[in-house]
Amino acid sequence: MKIGRKLRDLFFPPRCVFCDRVITRREHPVCPACIEPPPPHIIETACPRCGREKRLYCTCKRDTFLSDRIAAPFYFEGAVQNGIHRFKKVEDVDRTRYFADEMCETAFREFGDLRIDYVTAVPMSRRTYRDRGFNQSERLARLLSKDFHVPYVDLLVKRMETGSQKGLKADERRVNLLGVFDVDTRLPLSGKQIFLIDDVVTTGSTTNECAKMLKLAGAEKVYVLALALTRPKNDKETESR
Ligand SMILES: [Zn+2]
Ligand SMILES: [Zn+2]
Repeated sequence: MKIGRKLRDLFFPPRCVFCDRVITRREHPVCPACIEPPPPHIIETACPRCGREKRLYCTCKRDTFLSDRIAAPFYFEGAVQNGIHRFKKVEDVDRTRYFADEMCETAFREFGDLRIDYVTAVPMSRRTYRDRGFNQSERLARLLSKDFHVPYVDLLVKRMETGSQKGLKADERRVNLLGVFDVDTRLPLSGKQIFLIDDVVTTGSTTNECAKMLKLAGAEKVYVLALALTRPKNDKETESR
């Protein structure tokens, strides 16, 4: 077993989950450079509706949320931003497990009191899925469903490709996504409480559209668990993207 691990490390050395640098097994999962300064964790008491730290970065006045709660372990900045870019491009078991662990911890803290019936993920269009070969949010959702002992179900489909949401204002993002998602399941959703997994939540337009469709199909509550949230842009501490 030990030899196997050594051999594996020789051919596929452990890498930092954020910057991808080769590191020692002892350093795993985060390299010294990505620990100092520490990754941007959401640590202060978070606002249940937008998921940002209440006192500092709550965006509830600016954005509308159709989901019932949002929570995430990180802000989408610095090392975390780099790590998520890689996470979307290359499927990596260690990175996925690390991110899922962080989300799991957040979920127990923020959503520990909730009853959950299904875990599902924000879907990709068929074309993007074909190009990329995997849906990163679905990979997280499948791991998390095991952690929570709740079934993972593909509840949503993305009917059409949308242009990048980058650079669009909140209302443009919303219009850009109208009618894009559909609920596609034979399961009755009436009265169900659903965990919706996404990678990055910006204004909430994507998770709103998904939550709206799930609720139209009867879902009682939709709780969003994301990997990272953006901090409000006008804040000094927000990096330019
Ligand atoms: Zn690193
Ligand atoms: Zn808020």
